Amino acid sequence: MAGQPQADCLFCKIAAGEVPADVVRETATTVAFRDINPQAPTHVLVIPRVHHPDAASLAAAEPQVLADLLTEAGNVAADEKVDRTGYRVIFNTGSGAGQTVFHAHAHVLGGRGLNWPPG
Ligand code: 5GP
Ligand code: ZN
Repeated sequence: MAGQPQADCLFCKIAAGEVPADVVRETATTVAFRDINPQAPTHVLVIPRVHHPDAASLAAAEPQVLADLLTEAGNVAADEKVDRTGYRVIFNTGSGAGQTVFHAHAHVLGGRGLNWPPG
């Protein structure tokens, strides 16, 4: 059920501390950790502690937590010193767009040139 921890969800386990991750920031509602397969010098994932399958589902159910996620994405960018050079916040949604973990998460990418439009 959305909002409740899912036993088979990798990011629920990371949020609970049951699977180790390189955590860079935590709040009451979010956890930010480095992507295991980084696509840029800065590649941090920001997840809600609550389980929702994607960003739009999170927005519909708990809009304040989505706002917290975006606030934290900005805080990660500032910590990583990419806020001035520019960074990208990405929510892959659906397998056709590359989503592989169905627990909402923002990718924060920076520290290199970022082409537009993305691939
Ligand atoms: P998606 O493809 O769903 O948008 O993003 C999932 C991301 O999670 C991928 O970039 C992938 O590298 C990352 N990832 C998958 N498994 C792990 C893990 O066990 N630890 C960490 N830190 N990142 C992971
Ligand atoms: Zn989950």
